[in-house]
Amino acid sequence: MNPHELAERYGTPAYVYDLAAVRAAYADLRAALPDPALLYYSLKANPHPALVDELASLGCRAEVSSTGEVDAALAAGVDPAAVLLTGPGKTTAAVAHALRRGVRRFSVDSPADLNRVGAAVARHGTRAQCLLRVNADEPVSGMGLAMTGTASQFGADASWVLRRPEDFRGSPQAPVTGLHLYMGSNLTDTATLLRQFEVAVAIAVRVRKVLGDLTEIDLGGGFGTPYARDGARPTFPDLADRLARLLDDRLPDWRDGAPRISFESGRYLVGDCGTLLCRVVDVKSSKGQLFTVLDTGVNHLGGMAGLRRLPPILPSVRPPVDRDDTPTEVVRTGLVGPLCTPLDTFSRTAELPAPRPGTLLAVPNVGAYGLTASLLAFLGHPAPVEVVVDGDTPVSVSRLLLDRVDLPVDQSAAVPSGR
Ligand SMILES: *Cc1c(COP(=O)(O)O)cnc(C)c1O
Repeated sequence: MNPHELAERYGTPAYVYDLAAVRAAYADLRAALPDPALLYYSLKANPHPALVDELASLGCRAEVSSTGEVDAALAAGVDPAAVLLTGPGKTTAAVAHALRRGVRRFSVDSPADLNRVGAAVARHGTRAQCLLRVNADEPVSGMGLAMTGTASQFGADASWVLRRPEDFRGSPQAPVTGLHLYMGSNLTDTATLLRQFEVAVAIAVRVRKVLGDLTEIDLGGGFGTPYARDGARPTFPDLADRLARLLDDRLPDWRDGAPRISFESGRYLVGDCGTLLCRVVDVKSSKGQLFTVLDTGVNHLGGMAGLRRLPPILPSVRPPVDRDDTPTEVVRTGLVGPLCTPLDTFSRTAELPAPRPGTLLAVPNVGAYGLTASLLAFLGHPAPVEVVVDGDTPVSVSRLLLDRVDLPVDQSAAVPSGR
């Protein structure tokens, strides 16, 4: 079905995710990684069950960071033994929830976090593995959204771990058996990716000397792809060979799984599978400036940019690509959403072929950090419909609901089991 047929059948705004694109991205990422390596899909990018299920059946593990993501991964068929719970603010309740669901692998960010996980594991009467998240002492040059090498809420500084390794060993039930070295995001050139992995491997080699043998080294990821803009997902043709050489050199037994090497990716795996279809609701001129009002805005896309915590995303919003009639005249227009705030602006100076009420438009490359990274509850518009297609065939249609449930006023409101 083409975008016009999809929009007519299911309405707009609509997120459309194509499983064929997910499979292609998975194949390209596998080709960029050394073999053997484990690969975690980071549900933060898009927890839609059909995408998680597709990636799990291709062989991905799951990197999750909340009780909701634990449940989403397991509901989509990920084996609990293949789930890694990460994040700097894991509460005892969240860890206990994960343990009850069978999760046994935790990334830990500090001695306090390690002790809390250890205590929860002991109370649960089980055993678990902890990967210690380490923050590099130096930033990696060329990295954009750096999550390491600077002051950071993520992980423990490498110098701290090296100075006081006794604080980072864990307990007999929940020992530190690995490292978690996720450093940054959206890197699109092989040289920067490789530099980052060199830093990660160097840390692993040093930390291993003080903590003893490690069974898993998660080298992170950060594989980039365009977000909400036109452009093709990059490939990294010589990365696998160069990474294999790096590992042969520094961790010579990695091919035998000593340690096992793992990677994580969210956006690369699902970014280009997704398109947001929307329609023009109104077109009007104000004081000489044209405004095109859409049926979608920062409540559905780019909410994090709407908060001005990131540079504005300036999405490409244009007619769906497979429309072959030649555009008439192109006009310059402000492109705004339906929310009652001037922050709901995609662009002040978009160029569009004569928009009219009803015109169908599309934002490409929004399979990652789209709907669930947005301000869905703000102003209470319905969520876009989410349509999963496999090539040309729709395979699932759903809509997220935000529901308020009443709770008893005379009882604790603690979330019972993560829901
Ligand atoms: C966000 C995040 C990821 C995924 O990042 P992408 O840029 O989507 O690949 C992976 N690991 C951790 C720890 C993260 O916080």
